[in-house]
Amino acid sequence: VDPPDPPVDLADALHRVRSRGGRLTPAKRALIELLHIEGDPLTADQIAERLTGHDRSVVYRNLNQLEQLGIAEHLHPGHGQAVYRAAGHPKLIVACTHCGTERPIDRADTRAFVNRIHRHTGITPDLTHFPLTGTCDSCAAARSR
Ligand SMILES: [Zn+2]
Ligand SMILES: [Zn+2]
Repeated sequence: VDPPDPPVDLADALHRVRSRGGRLTPAKRALIELLHIEGDPLTADQIAERLTGHDRSVVYRNLNQLEQLGIAEHLHPGHGQAVYRAAGHPKLIVACTHCGTERPIDRADTRAFVNRIHRHTGITPDLTHFPLTGTCDSCAAARSR
């Protein structure tokens, strides 16, 4: 099942938790605020470290719940841990598998590619969950030397 459309802003995200019958605990509010303030996606551990004073297991459980509500989303940019951010971020990540460099690209700029894949396969690729990976220019140059 696809998650619901992302909230339009922080207030909308907070409202969504309440309207879905969930309790807006201080830990949940702190997590939602962090995801909206933080531009870069964070691992669950990094999030737990920033939310000092909140129990780690509660942070992880809340992350899960926020994903189900379509408020948070996670990505797998490399071989490491998944990273989390506010859902509906306008940028996708393209990552170099050799040096780990990550570059953002506007979601809109990938639309023609996504549509073409869909036309040929009937599958709409999700470039958020599993970002595109490849070789950056400097790694390509280093390899050809
Ligand atoms: Zn590289
Ligand atoms: Zn995943």
